[in-house]
Amino acid sequence: MRLHNTYTKAVEELAPIEPGRIRVYNCGPTVYDSPHVGNFRTFAFGDMLRRYLEYRGFQVAQIMNLTDVGHLTQDHVEAGVDKMEEGLRRLREQGVNVSNPYEVADYFIKEFHEARRALNFRDAHRFPRATDHVPDMIRLIQALLEKGAAYRVGGNVYYDVTKFPAYGRLSGNTLEQIKAGARIEINPEKRHPADFALWKTDPRHLMQFDSPWGRGFPGWHIECSAMSMKYLGEQLDIHTGGEDNIFPHHECEIAQSEAATGKAPFVKHWMHARHLLWDGKKMSKSEGTFFTIEDLLRKGYSGHAIRYALVSTHYRQQVNYTLKSFDDAKAAVARLDELNRRLQGVYGAGVSGSETLQSLCEAAEKKFVAFMDDDLNVSGALGVVHEFARDVNKALDDGSVSSASAGAALKTLVDLCDSVFGFLPPVAGSGPPPDILELGRSRQEARARRDWKESDRLRDEIRAKGWIVEDTKEGPKWKRG
Ligand SMILES: [Zn+2]
Repeated sequence: MRLHNTYTKAVEELAPIEPGRIRVYNCGPTVYDSPHVGNFRTFAFGDMLRRYLEYRGFQVAQIMNLTDVGHLTQDHVEAGVDKMEEGLRRLREQGVNVSNPYEVADYFIKEFHEARRALNFRDAHRFPRATDHVPDMIRLIQALLEKGAAYRVGGNVYYDVTKFPAYGRLSGNTLEQIKAGARIEINPEKRHPADFALWKTDPRHLMQFDSPWGRGFPGWHIECSAMSMKYLGEQLDIHTGGEDNIFPHHECEIAQSEAATGKAPFVKHWMHARHLLWDGKKMSKSEGTFFTIEDLLRKGYSGHAIRYALVSTHYRQQVNYTLKSFDDAKAAVARLDELNRRLQGVYGAGVSGSETLQSLCEAAEKKFVAFMDDDLNVSGALGVVHEFARDVNKALDDGSVSSASAGAALKTLVDLCDSVFGFLPPVAGSGPPPDILELGRSRQEARARRDWKESDRLRDEIRAKGWIVEDTKEGPKWKRG
């Protein structure tokens, strides 16, 4: 499997640090406002990447952070604007009863999870909140001070970029360029204009924490270094984000993490999703091109259709969306949903016959994998899906499909469109797909021979795939998890 690496600007073979396991960190949402569709394109890319890695048999550990403190641009710092304060004001204007920044964060975290679930994301293994990890950040800042990679000026601590020769390698910046491009030095505390804050003291900020440097708050970049290394170790396989995260955020993460641990690379594959345009313009509230997932759901698009639109172009390609993109996605999902229903019908009807779709299924999966292994070539992979759907529909039209071959086709359809792409709606009232039924059968056999350990293991495996099996007097009963 080959993936593009922003650091080397090349498509490289994925070679896990630990065989069979992939450690992924996704930069998550800032939770003082609603993310727009463009942010969700980046998150959906991260979810699809995880799903595909799991489909390819990797055990994935996925962490996505929630930025509830520290996300300030230089402009915000200078203007003394606290984004949480803005969030608080905005929510109150909308009549939401919030009294402090933690409630603002709670509100937007809840909203984020609702949108994420509507888009059928798998749960990351953890969603750490920055405010729960301030002691971890303080320890990391202390390590950087001890190593001479950071310096303190009163209640502020800055990272000293001149001590890290690789600074700028991810984004293609050099310290000279940054210095030349810097505005009149507005912060006389900094030794170099590219130095960035690890810890800030500013009494105007709403959230304040105790630290060895007095009460203050952490910089934005340090949270991702602290939380990624806490949960995934000092080196990660993959780190994702939007293209706007490359500089300065990810550049700073590399500098902090590698200087603190002495290990390089901090991340083997840096992967960044391009931003999208809406009607040829950047997403902006003033231009009327700012849409949230909730806006699209309210316009009547299903989560599956929205997801289709978000994952169906290559993550490194800039896409121009209009509402028509979502109409097209809706039609594509409806076609696949229709095929799913037809196959479920034949599969459940017990039709015998010699016709087999096995070779068609195998060929489709093989071609699909070849495209996806090539830096997630979704356009090619979707071409395979739609060609497969046409061929299976044709066989169904001919009336020559047996239940067994319908089961094989169902498994392929579900593997590609649900397990990997996540945009196939579940058929209401239908039982689990064939691969889950197969697991259920093995579990019944394990129970019959009183192998409770194996039976429990299979129940957990079934649950991990989204189904719950209950044992009743009439036999196993299935429910969606
Ligand atoms: Zn981050």
